[in-house]
Amino acid sequence: MSGRDVVVVGAGIGGAATAYWLTRAGRKVTLLERYDLGHDKGSSHGASRIFRFSYDETHWVADAMESLVLWRELEEETGATLITTTGGFDIGPNVEAHRRSLDECDAVSELIDAAEAHRRFPLIGFPEDQPILFQPDAGISHADRCVKAFVDAAVARGAEFRPNTRVEGIEVGDDHVTVRAMGEELTAECVVVSAGAWGKSLLGEIGLELPVTVTRETVAYFSTGGGVEVPSVVDWTGDPPFFSLWDPATDGLKTGWHHAGAVIDDPDVPEHPEERIISGLSRWVAERFPGADPQAVTAETCLYTTTADERFVIERHGRVVVGSACSGHGFKFGPVSGRRIADLALEVL
Ligand SMILES: Cc1cc2nc3c(=O)[nH]c(=O)nc-3n(C[C@H](O)[C@H](O)[C@H](O)COP(=O)(O)OP(=O)(O)OC[C@H]3O[C@@H](n4cnc5c(N)ncnc54)[C@H](O)[C@@H]3O)c2cc1C
Repeated sequence: MSGRDVVVVGAGIGGAATAYWLTRAGRKVTLLERYDLGHDKGSSHGASRIFRFSYDETHWVADAMESLVLWRELEEETGATLITTTGGFDIGPNVEAHRRSLDECDAVSELIDAAEAHRRFPLIGFPEDQPILFQPDAGISHADRCVKAFVDAAVARGAEFRPNTRVEGIEVGDDHVTVRAMGEELTAECVVVSAGAWGKSLLGEIGLELPVTVTRETVAYFSTGGGVEVPSVVDWTGDPPFFSLWDPATDGLKTGWHHAGAVIDDPDVPEHPEERIISGLSRWVAERFPGADPQAVTAETCLYTTTADERFVIERHGRVVVGSACSGHGFKFGPVSGRRIADLALEVL
């Protein structure tokens, strides 16, 4: 045998965090990534994702709160700034449920009226006929730094990281697994598949069904003139909802339209950002950010891997652990999801 405990497939936030927790448990790990670290073909690339506690179900709030503690630990360990707190708004009729969940978890939140919200954050124009919830712990995850921090910390604890190494197949034996990659056969006690949009086909080949739909989402960036770490906004009055956050790379606004993108079959077929979505985002920015330029500066795509109820798939099938923690909102939970995935792998060892 190789002496290797676990092969982790995929170095997005899911696989990177899993590798980290496995090395923290003293395990020998090889992390395989088919592209470069930080590539833009999957779900974890770019400079920012919304970090927020505010959810309408308590378990998400609790996990986000625990994640923040773990993100701060990782910041201490790596010296990287991973979360910037800007505060965040939820706008729309469902914010009462968010407020209840936040209260149950003893997280601070405040219902405020449009005039007061605008007084505090003049860049944003708030609707006067909708409830507005402010949660001060929200902000952004510095996405690319977060993934790198987990990989660096795992490597510092002895993990082997191989970028540009595509897993071609997995064979599950009685007492080990074999992972085929780039003409090599890697054996281990257990394999973790955290392959994002590619997980469905990779797992399908070994008879495991991943119940997810893959969509290609478009995000667009807008100028605020710079110098303002704009609070995150989730505008639930849109159908589907709009969201925005401060983007440190452009020092402007990053915006998206949750689940407005097209369903795709093959994540390897590149597509351009959708004009229909960029126009929708532009209209929303014109209405919600009177202080910003509604002409998009740039746009890009990103893949959502979504379950029917937007929860995550974290499960073990013998020596195969599946980690699919996306549904368009999984980044913030990276440390908690990665630990759950790693714990399932540890059951095998
Ligand atoms: C537009 C958009 C906006 C989002 N906004 C937010 C937000 O504001 N807040 C938030 O919390 N979350 C957000 N998310 C969700 C979050 O980004 C995802 O939950 C998270 O990035 C999923 O990470 P992952 O590791 O599961 O997948 P990925 O990042 O896709 O990682 C999977 C990796 O596996 C690799 N791989 C695949 N097949 C193989 C193979 N055969 N061999 C080797 N490697 C392989 C891929 O190359 C890839 O790097 C957003 C996502 C998108 C797309």
